[in-house]
Amino acid sequence: MAGRAAVDVRAFASFGRKIVAVGRNYREHAAELGNTVPTVPLIFLKPPSSYLGEGNSIIVPDGCSELHHEVELGVVIGKPGRTIPESHAMDHVAGYALALDMTARDLQTAAKKAGAPWTLAKGYDTFCPISRFITKDELACPENTQLWLKVDGTMKQDGNTKDMVFTIPHLIGYISRIMSLETGDLILTGTPSGVGPVVSGQTITAGLGDILEMKFSVA
Ligand code: MG
Repeated sequence: MAGRAAVDVRAFASFGRKIVAVGRNYREHAAELGNTVPTVPLIFLKPPSSYLGEGNSIIVPDGCSELHHEVELGVVIGKPGRTIPESHAMDHVAGYALALDMTARDLQTAAKKAGAPWTLAKGYDTFCPISRFITKDELACPENTQLWLKVDGTMKQDGNTKDMVFTIPHLIGYISRIMSLETGDLILTGTPSGVGPVVSGQTITAGLGDILEMKFSVA
């Protein structure tokens, strides 16, 4: 942590202490994996060691035979807080990032069957590729923005954040009643439908509205 010195939140991935991810936050995605839509947010953690900057490759872990892409809008926290009321939640947002919640689907399916946590399936190194920081001015309408993902040029996911089950302010309120949100934390807001496998040698491109496009290869 940077102590009392001012931090540059654009570099959130270099100092942020947690990634809080939300599962099943788009109805069509919950349905495609045979899950019901939660009545309260389903949250889990990914370690900051899973961050991957652009220009680097996603690594398929040994023992994973089904690595899935999930494109998600990430919310970067800029002001710490706990039990944040929804009405003030957006004051705690510094900006955004486009992210991939890479998932070892085979390991996750096994964990679900065993009643075990998702940590393995979600936590490997390189499992959280991210874009550059996006300012709040650039993304004026986070609740109604297209996000998409292509594998080797073929569209796989094409969704809109307006289809989120739980809104960004609701998620910030909910999560901050459980764990303090700190400057540099990232909230992954869930993925639209169309998740699927990638294998070594493929290239993922993903984008957020007209704001940015990012590219990652699978090693
Ligand atoms: Mg996800």
